[in-house]
Amino acid sequence: MVNDSMGHTVGDELLVAAAGRLTALAGGSTPPSRGQAPGPHGQEPPEGALGRGQGTAARIGADEFALLVEEADGDAAVERHAQQIVEAFAEPFILTGGPVIATATVGVATTEDSTDAGDLVRHADLALYAAKAAGKRQWRRYRPVLSAGIARRRELKAAIEDAVNGSAFTLAYQPIVVLATGEIAGFEALVRWPHPRWGMINPDQFIALAEETGYIVPLGSWVLRQAVTDLVAWQRHAGGRAPLYASVNVSARQFRDPGFVARVRAVLSESGLAPSRLQLELTESVLLGRDDRIRAELAELKDQGVRLAIDDFGTGYSSLSYLRELPMDVLKIDKSFTEGIASSQGRLALVEVIVRMAKTLGLTVTAEGIESEAQRELLISLGCETGQGYLLAKPVAADEAQALVRSGLLPPLHAGTG
Ligand code: C2E
Ligand code: MG
Ligand code: MG
Repeated sequence: MVNDSMGHTVGDELLVAAAGRLTALAGGSTPPSRGQAPGPHGQEPPEGALGRGQGTAARIGADEFALLVEEADGDAAVERHAQQIVEAFAEPFILTGGPVIATATVGVATTEDSTDAGDLVRHADLALYAAKAAGKRQWRRYRPVLSAGIARRRELKAAIEDAVNGSAFTLAYQPIVVLATGEIAGFEALVRWPHPRWGMINPDQFIALAEETGYIVPLGSWVLRQAVTDLVAWQRHAGGRAPLYASVNVSARQFRDPGFVARVRAVLSESGLAPSRLQLELTESVLLGRDDRIRAELAELKDQGVRLAIDDFGTGYSSLSYLRELPMDVLKIDKSFTEGIASSQGRLALVEVIVRMAKTLGLTVTAEGIESEAQRELLISLGCETGQGYLLAKPVAADEAQALVRSGLLPPLHAGTG
């Protein structure tokens, strides 16, 4: 992402800086100085923090590093080391392109469960996959069951290819609701993969893999076309109702695909949907950096009248500058923020500030993950216009969504069967 948005020179700088932090931890290139206190703000790892022996740090792949820690002092020390590596990346890297937050995800293997060097690296790799699956900023230790997990991943990867080619996906639709009135304003299209053997697979299990393999590009195009086609058909049948919008998630890789804007234009003209009835949800990672092409494309979409939303606001970089500089229309507050507002004053204050800031910048706010009446009422009182969540409606199948469009309103506290 840094290569794409800030250029390869800055990407190289990041690799060098990351290597520096790891080398400092390993006590590799500089002589380990034991017993030294951490830096003034505790930001720099103490040199040679890992183990008593001399460590070795190496870059072994594009963005993969290996640390060999000799004479680690038992299980507790192994865990402490893994945690120290994760924490060594807590502070942003200050590069010529600006500050960059890079996270470290760590897989740990020890000679207790590995017989030779090859084994050790292979096991660390398996543990790394497990850590990545658990989310960023994690570490995991190798366990023998992980070998089965990697086989599953390989299987899933192959299956995605077939599924994309055989259009095996479906869409669920979650209503986006005007909080004060219960009216439906639009629908977010959420991709599903009903697999003949594995059952219903949710996007959390395959979107990242589809991004890695590039299949997200054809998959995302299909989602866009299908969601727009469905909405147009529902509205035609419902007649006379207030127009709704389709909200479609666009991943970073998909947005960076050179054909993306042209595809949006084609889908709109083929379907006849007014551009203002299409909302594209972008995550903060798409907006990262000062990429002129991204900026121009956002402006072009905006000029056509397409609504642009920031998805999962608060979970990524949450940079105020891009909110001011980029032509966004909607800010979607992540459900991790909505979750706490009824129980934590701090969370409530945070969401209040986000809503006020969004309004100052002329953005509409949609809260995600509303699960209780108390949350709904608080959000209304803060001035948040629209929301989504299991309290209002779960994601539903296309035919149920069509029935909702016909009636225009959700039944009181409707809970679908997504
Ligand atoms: P998202 O765009 O933030 O979508 C909201 C997710 O929260 C959905 O999960 C939705 O089912 C879930 N959700 C909605 N209301 C509630 C609630 O009240 N409580 C809780 N706990 N969850 C709620 P889902 O469908 O599993 O999608 C997960 C993520 O996968 C989406 O997060 C989105 O980032 C991604 N995704 C889904 N469809 C697509 C797609 O077509 N393209 C791309 N690129 N990403 C997609
Ligand atoms: Mg979304
Ligand atoms: Mg979201």
